[in-house]
Amino acid sequence: MKFVGAHVSSSGGVFNAPLNAKEIGAKAFALFTKNQRQWKSKELDSKTIDKFNQNLEDSGILAKHILPHDSYLINLGHLEEDKLIKSRDAFIDEIERCHILGLDRLNFHPGSHLVKISKKAEDYEAQIKQAEDISLDVVAISMNLAIEATKDLDVKLVIENTAGQGSNLGYKFEHLAHIIDKIEDKSRVGVCLDTCHTFTSGYDLRTREAYDKTMSEFDKLVGFEYLMGMHINDSKVKLGSRVDRHHSLGEGEIGWDLFSFIMNDDRMDDIPLILETINSDIWKQEIEALYRLVK
Ligand SMILES: [Zn+2]
Ligand SMILES: [Zn+2]
Repeated sequence: MKFVGAHVSSSGGVFNAPLNAKEIGAKAFALFTKNQRQWKSKELDSKTIDKFNQNLEDSGILAKHILPHDSYLINLGHLEEDKLIKSRDAFIDEIERCHILGLDRLNFHPGSHLVKISKKAEDYEAQIKQAEDISLDVVAISMNLAIEATKDLDVKLVIENTAGQGSNLGYKFEHLAHIIDKIEDKSRVGVCLDTCHTFTSGYDLRTREAYDKTMSEFDKLVGFEYLMGMHINDSKVKLGSRVDRHHSLGEGEIGWDLFSFIMNDDRMDDIPLILETINSDIWKQEIEALYRLVK
């Protein structure tokens, strides 16, 4: 069975997220548990937590179908010490917030190496690879530290694949595998595949053949046992353009076939399938359209 929803607003308080999800007929949702553009956050008080639990119960949505997303400011692969420490502290705070709300997974982008490398350099590719490998190691260390600091909390750290814009890590399945390989407690790790990011990072998904090939490559390098959620987006930009521009389903470069493959693939059962498409006014219709694809 499929659990489809969207990244809904928690403006006014996290307890509004389940209400917003219910309103669009979602069976899953994503949310920010704090302002995603600020380092500081107000602690979750008992009134807020109670209201969240009550609204969640009313929505009928289960905790395992909720995919909280961390702040955009956090970079677990930062190569400057003070900024890295700030990110690590904020990440642990995010894990604790999830736990307090009864949520069992936290979705995050691996990070960026931020090293400037001249495209004119003769060994450009080798230099990029080196910066990425070092930063991926730093991400893994950050995750191990976070897991250790929250070892009694049952919150999985769900690494999202990225479009590979700028110096962002995570645009190859190898990057996800590199990180997972270095995590000591693998029971605390998961991954989230974003269809737009997968496509724009260079993995084709538009035909049955391309979809099967990309998914079997994912399975070989990472493994479906780690898949804890997906972001369901079309893309404004072309295959392999390494730019992150979401589009409404069927309006972009990917097209409807992919969404039909996903809705009929039992490897995507029982995990949150989250729309981050650009027009929230049509999320209800997009969710309905996705369910109509089930054969
Ligand atoms: Zn995403
Ligand atoms: Zn994106």
